[in-house]
Amino acid sequence: MATVTENIVRHQLEERRHRLEAALQAAPQEAQFSRLLQEVDAALARVEGGSYGLCEVCHDPIEQDRLMADPMVRFCLDHLTEQEQRALEQDLQLAARIQQGLLPEKSLRTLGWEIHYHYEPAGPVSGDYCDVVQPDGDTGDLYFLFGDVSGKGVSAAILMSHLHATFRSLVAADFSVGQLVERANRVFRESTLSPYFATLVAGRASASGELEICNAGHCPPLVLTDGRVTAVDPTGLPVGAFYSTSFSSRKLTLGKGDTMVLYTDGLTEARNADGAEYGSERISRVLAGSRHLAPEALTAACLADLAVHLGDAPKVDDLTLMVVRRAG
Ligand SMILES: [Zn+2]
Repeated sequence: MATVTENIVRHQLEERRHRLEAALQAAPQEAQFSRLLQEVDAALARVEGGSYGLCEVCHDPIEQDRLMADPMVRFCLDHLTEQEQRALEQDLQLAARIQQGLLPEKSLRTLGWEIHYHYEPAGPVSGDYCDVVQPDGDTGDLYFLFGDVSGKGVSAAILMSHLHATFRSLVAADFSVGQLVERANRVFRESTLSPYFATLVAGRASASGELEICNAGHCPPLVLTDGRVTAVDPTGLPVGAFYSTSFSSRKLTLGKGDTMVLYTDGLTEARNADGAEYGSERISRVLAGSRHLAPEALTAACLADLAVHLGDAPKVDDLTLMVVRRAG
């Protein structure tokens, strides 16, 4: 029996075939159209023959994220030609530059809030999502969005930019954060292959210190008040996990000098050489001991403590950390 993924691939290839045939009819002299058509037909033959997605040299499965980005690839990363390898490196460098361009200002001060973040991909690109938007200008509410797309590398980065565009268009519509995430969930589910989802926190901050937080299955943000740390537990499932699900939110008020810290599991699940995870208790301890620090210094303190924990062990996951502080 054909798997669902196989059907999706076949459908995508047939659609390409259709478009190429139309293009070829309009411009029969274009040699590249007939060459691409041959490649699509060869890919369809591989689907029929059961060898689709396997490297033609070693017969091992080709990396899923590469197949997702280009269903025509025929070789695994180890068996690219030198020219293909160079092209891939250039593509990745370009993708990394585009992703950097999607990030908000590194340090931000607006509406009585101070924000600073650290964004560190494990490879050239990241599946972590981090954005700050003030759709109505300097005086309107401030939205922050922070999350982690399942998987790593290029496919996660593509979905991260998808989330970025979706939320950027939705925040202008003045929804509650719960409604915002609900709509983003439907858009994400409709346009994404089913194994992918994203955990995320959507927050809306007002000048009076009120925060409305929707936590869709993400690591609990930590709120630091007078040296005490409390966690904002999830209020819903990850985005993209189910088509019809609702998302509730929590309201809290931050006093002057209070801070909220958001992080991805690249922080808490970072392992040292002995295999021990950094963990959420340790980050809470660092925060409790650093309550007077401004966002940038607090970010640096967290990263310094993580570096002590890691020692020589490498970071293997995307890591993002954002500090949101009520100024004063
Ligand atoms: Zn191979």
